[in-house]
Amino acid sequence: MSGGQPSAASPVVCRDVHKAYHSGARDTNALRGVDLDVVAGEWVAIMGPSGSGKSTLLHMLGGLDTPDSGTVTIGGCEITSMSETQRALVRREHIGYVFQFFNLVSDMSVADNVELPMLLLGVSRREAHRRACEVLEELGIGEVLDAAPSELSGGQQQRVALARALVNRPAVLLADEPTGNLDTESARQVLQLVREEHESGQTIVMVTHDMRVAAAADRVLVMEDGVLRTERDRSIDDTAPSLLADLARHEEPLA
Ligand code: ADP
Repeated sequence: MSGGQPSAASPVVCRDVHKAYHSGARDTNALRGVDLDVVAGEWVAIMGPSGSGKSTLLHMLGGLDTPDSGTVTIGGCEITSMSETQRALVRREHIGYVFQFFNLVSDMSVADNVELPMLLLGVSRREAHRRACEVLEELGIGEVLDAAPSELSGGQQQRVALARALVNRPAVLLADEPTGNLDTESARQVLQLVREEHESGQTIVMVTHDMRVAAAADRVLVMEDGVLRTERDRSIDDTAPSLLADLARHEEPLA
């Protein structure tokens, strides 16, 4: 099986998820029957070769795309049977998403970027501002509140993106190569913040090429040809050396 102990309380559950893309005469089976259970407070890292389906899976978990078949349940809501509008609500309430290239709104200040997810949930402007300041302070970037994203370093932008993703206290934080576009020191800082969020109970699913990042996770799953084929669990850690050696042959060099 590809994931933890199935439980009604699991914040992330996938059952037999399939997704194919059709472009021209070519069909790509991006996901070929993915099962996954992520238990509350768990940090799962997904590794695997480029093109194996990792981002596609994250998009399904984030409700950014829908599977052809199978189900995805996030924070107890089965998003695969929902309308686009309902899914957008679940995204706002239960899902925090961090991308490799930050995806901040460029013509809004840092504070406005972080306040936005709260305003969309109906939080008052005053309370949204208070909480944005609090979260940015926690993430060590309280001083850039009024800056535009373009005035910040990559590491600072990713910390703002993390603040935006976490500000509504999501059931799950989804992160797609969050350190992939950062220098070593910035990657270390972002990883440290993710670690702290994990220690305070945040459930995390993260796609990464960086073995140091994956090593910090509770579990490493490996996507290959649209299937989650292997896992490393710290409680049964004897497979780790061969798995990591296998990955090293596929992966890009460490950042
Ligand atoms: P990874 O994240 O592991 O690099 P992806 O999930 O991005 O892999 O892609 C899995 C496969 O699906 C690849 O063959 C990719 O080319 C294909 N794919 C992903 N998105 C699309 C799309 N929007 N249209 C067509 N093919 C796609």
